[in-house]
Amino acid sequence: MTDTRIGFGYDSHEFKSGVPLRLGGMTLDHPEGLAGHSDGDVLLHAITDALLGAVAAGDIGSFFPPGDPRWKGADSAIFLNLALEELQHAGYCVVNIDTTLILAAPKIVPIAGEMRARIADLLGVEIDQVSIKAKTPEGLGLEHVAQCHAVALVERVQEPEELKSMSEVIESQRQLEDVVDDLLSSVHGVPKKRIIEPVYDTEDIT
Ligand code: MG
Repeated sequence: MTDTRIGFGYDSHEFKSGVPLRLGGMTLDHPEGLAGHSDGDVLLHAITDALLGAVAAGDIGSFFPPGDPRWKGADSAIFLNLALEELQHAGYCVVNIDTTLILAAPKIVPIAGEMRARIADLLGVEIDQVSIKAKTPEGLGLEHVAQCHAVALVERVQEPEELKSMSEVIESQRQLEDVVDDLLSSVHGVPKKRIIEPVYDTEDIT
């Protein structure tokens, strides 16, 4: 895989009375919450899918099927955490996340800072790596729905496979030279030489 990759996530949930509004890992003061098998956190679901998508690891539904009773009312931070683990397993870390929420209410701008801090905390990154934007659903006829789009840029943190294999070549060459040196010194009684020619020009990989 290349050094940087991008992922995209989208989700929507309908507003419903009688449940708390969970958004961005926070509980907001609002007359209605979002319906869902989990806590309905549309923002965390979109980010989770963006992260999974960045490393082609499937989507939130493939890890947490909606009908599974274990995830009923679940804190969506669990899903985000799983996506982070998949990201780390693939050898990548988050560069930045950008999101757009689309909902009629509540107003997001006054709480966007706190929400960014909360998500940065969940992702283990700095607040300036997380962006939250919000729009109202003008002309969509979706006044009772919350939607979210998210993109995630990730970058490789582990040594690329090509470099790993190259260092294995160097190591095996060193071992071979050691064996030859030992043979030469035992047969001819000559002192061991330690001249190691690099198999590539080291200037080329800086
Ligand atoms: Mg969802």
